[in-house]
Amino acid sequence: RGDGGRRRQPYGRNAYPDYRNHVPFEEPPEEVITEGSKSEGFINFEAYDDVSVEVSGENIPAPANSFEEIDLGDGLHKNISRCRYEKPTPIQRHAIPIVVAGRDLMACAQTGSGKTAAFCLPIICGLLRNGASNDRRPASRVACPTALVLSPTRELSCQIHEEARKFAYQTGIKIGVAYGGAPLMQQVRNLERGVDVLVATPGRLVDMVEKDRVSLRLIKYLAIDEADRMLDMGFEPQIRRIVEQLDMPLAGARQTLLFSATFPNDIQMLASDFLSNYIFLAVGR
Ligand code: ADP
Repeated sequence: RGDGGRRRQPYGRNAYPDYRNHVPFEEPPEEVITEGSKSEGFINFEAYDDVSVEVSGENIPAPANSFEEIDLGDGLHKNISRCRYEKPTPIQRHAIPIVVAGRDLMACAQTGSGKTAAFCLPIICGLLRNGASNDRRPASRVACPTALVLSPTRELSCQIHEEARKFAYQTGIKIGVAYGGAPLMQQVRNLERGVDVLVATPGRLVDMVEKDRVSLRLIKYLAIDEADRMLDMGFEPQIRRIVEQLDMPLAGARQTLLFSATFPNDIQMLASDFLSNYIFLAVGR
């Protein structure tokens, strides 16, 4: 499998500044995030002033100019500072208030635009508000996450897992990960210790649900990252199986966030099938 060279590039290559290229992120050791010197202005936020933003839908929540003005709770605000994020990126300014308001979201944004925080922060905030977790160690051996993040590859899943763990630091929210190409039982045993947010590739997740290792019946948040890439990789059957044919609550009973760099017909179909009264957001230039 691969991208098959069919990646769609709507805004042109490098049209959108990529944070990955500009931000030296200091990886914290295993469980510790150190507070310390600020990153030294490597992010040129001025470069974002001419980034175009298109938003449509009913009752669109206002975008935020700073993280402080979004009520994410003390724990998350501390972790945002620990990550040395000073200002939200354009996708974060718009998406976080939309998700915090409980709305479904279809977001078009490139890799490196800060999508991970855009969906992880409001999801973790929602889980904390609704008293998920702390000690929801499953009585059975079936892992029952409350939030699911689908991502196309092992590499991306691991990256999202690492980022999400930083945001969830000392909140009690447990982040788990499952991907193909590695022993299943080891991942299952980690999930058995409890998982609130599961980051997974589609094939491995279908496998785990069919083997009764994971149940999706408690899912309140579903985020699908890089949806166009997943379709290019041929994952549509697995994605539809997960969202429509296993034990996932229906659209409307869960909150769904769909992220894609492009918005061709097949993604529009997914949006209309998976989302309910959604807000459309496109960030690019
Ligand atoms: P995407 O998911 O859109 O590909 P990421 O969310 O991984 O992009 O972000 C890319 C990089 O930018 C990561 O290293 C992330 O920690 C960093 N980053 C994200 N948001 C901010 C922000 N508001 N301020 C500073 N750095 C950020």
